[in-house]
Amino acid sequence: MTRLFNDPDDFAADSAAGFVAASGRWVRAVTGGVVRSTRGAEPTVSVVIGGGSGHYPAFAGLVGPGLAHGAVMGNLFASPSAHQVHSVATAAHEGRGVLLSYGNYAGDVLHFTQAQERLRAAGVDCRTVTVTDDISSAPITEREKRRGIAGDLVVFKIAGAAAEEGQDLDGVERVAARANDRTRSLGVAFGGCTLPGADEPLFTVPEGRMAVGLGIHGEPGIDEVDIPTAAGLAELFVSSLLAEVPDDIDLANARVVPILNGLGSVKYEELYVVYATVDRLLTEAGITVISPEVGEFCTSFDMAGASLTLLWLDDELERLWLAACDTPAFRRGAVEGRVAVDAIEEVAEEIVVPPATEESRRAAALITDVFAAIADMLDAEAEELGRIDRIAGDGDHGIGMQRGSRAAATAAAEVLSRGAGARTVLHHAGDSWADIGGGTSGAIWGEMLVALGESFGDDAEVGAADVGAGVGRMKDAVMSFGKATVGDKTMIDAIVPFADALAERLAAGANLTEAWARASATASAAAQATASLTARLGRARAHGDKSLGTPDPGAVSFALITRTVLDILQKEN
Ligand code: ADP
Ligand code: MG
Repeated sequence: MTRLFNDPDDFAADSAAGFVAASGRWVRAVTGGVVRSTRGAEPTVSVVIGGGSGHYPAFAGLVGPGLAHGAVMGNLFASPSAHQVHSVATAAHEGRGVLLSYGNYAGDVLHFTQAQERLRAAGVDCRTVTVTDDISSAPITEREKRRGIAGDLVVFKIAGAAAEEGQDLDGVERVAARANDRTRSLGVAFGGCTLPGADEPLFTVPEGRMAVGLGIHGEPGIDEVDIPTAAGLAELFVSSLLAEVPDDIDLANARVVPILNGLGSVKYEELYVVYATVDRLLTEAGITVISPEVGEFCTSFDMAGASLTLLWLDDELERLWLAACDTPAFRRGAVEGRVAVDAIEEVAEEIVVPPATEESRRAAALITDVFAAIADMLDAEAEELGRIDRIAGDGDHGIGMQRGSRAAATAAAEVLSRGAGARTVLHHAGDSWADIGGGTSGAIWGEMLVALGESFGDDAEVGAADVGAGVGRMKDAVMSFGKATVGDKTMIDAIVPFADALAERLAAGANLTEAWARASATASAAAQATASLTARLGRARAHGDKSLGTPDPGAVSFALITRTVLDILQKEN
């Protein structure tokens, strides 16, 4: 969905105006598109690229020193006219000839070819290298019919670098053609894109399915499959591209630049998940990966999809690929004088489990059971806790507690199996809760569990009085750590009455289960009572009265946890 536009008919022009306004360091507007706003000391061959709009950073985002000299900007997904191409090329021309380069689409070919003829008629030496990297769009025997997708970047970059080096038009044309020859891509899509003002997407992909080889304007692909895992997608990409390695490549000595490209609405983080496997598979195939790129290089509005491009390097292509460039969307080099640091093998932190007495290990086993039960309980409650947090917070309390408690349960079981006592189990559980749970609540639960563990030690039985004292220490620890007091509408509003009630009942002679039952009921009531408070601390503070009527999520989850502990204490008896 494209949400922001004025008159949809003016979208491409409005967007171009904003791009130029924001990018004066690199470009200036001319009829039909943009050209560089700077000039080098010596004239060079001019590389002019272009195509329809909606593919940013292709094409205008790639204009600047070391890359393109000009970009022709057509309307949305529509080829620019011959007139526009001619105009941009003429403005970009520095007297040493023009290389036109663009993705191979029928409309673009017609208009750019016409413009080339006009330029030649006007005495400008003009050549063309179209980009044909998309392996799904025609068989290898008909390479010249293939479409251009993210491989555009490779061909433009190599041509731009060759021009920057001072090569003549023959040289620039030759390396651009060679770059195209050694570049292969495959793309997939999970969903179509919607042009500004349109009610319907341009095309759709059925829910849960992935179109393999679907073109960047919705041109049909070669297959449709269920959406695989990220690793599954990486395998599809790599195996398909390795099935079509250029003839003169010896895999054992091959060097390759992988470019993992997002088509518009796939997150960078998702791309990195895919890239992790791409990198591993290429390395396992004996290929040396050089200067990879992960990001958006050729998009298709808000299309959900991705593509992988492989550029098979030789020495010349490598030099040109690595050469410095500076454009709005793609930059390289320029910060001098840096050396690579030696990679240091990260050694996994070794967990040392200190000796513990039999009594403490027994307590540790019970605590480990408690963590497992808490994690199960939070699995069931996560959604509701998230809902409460969404009202005045950010909605992540449920998943945070779920993740944190599950990590704590796993860590507790791990050290217990290695003979840990109560202190050590709580310590590792607390650290894992804080690491994996994250958020304010993760930090606080981590602090509480570590404090409880310090109180229990690894050497003694944990009796009722120890639990009472430990909970008191735990309460003090959170209060000094989080600086909240009763009435701030945080989990402190449940923790303080809980700790007080527990101490009071134990002092009155109740056994642990009875005292805990009373304290837990007190905590539940106190947590519910936070509904009438306005948050003064934490994330909810900014939303002031918005939380009125809703209890504090951290207080609610604390009360639920005391309830789960109670169930276990009751079962023990
Ligand atoms: P985040 O606020 O980082 O999104 P969570 O949503 O997981 O973290 O946890 C929110 C809970 O953290 C709140 O409901 C509140 O109970 C608790 N909290 C926030 N600030 C404090 C604090 N200073 N002391 C104690 N608890 C706090
Ligand atoms: Mg939150």
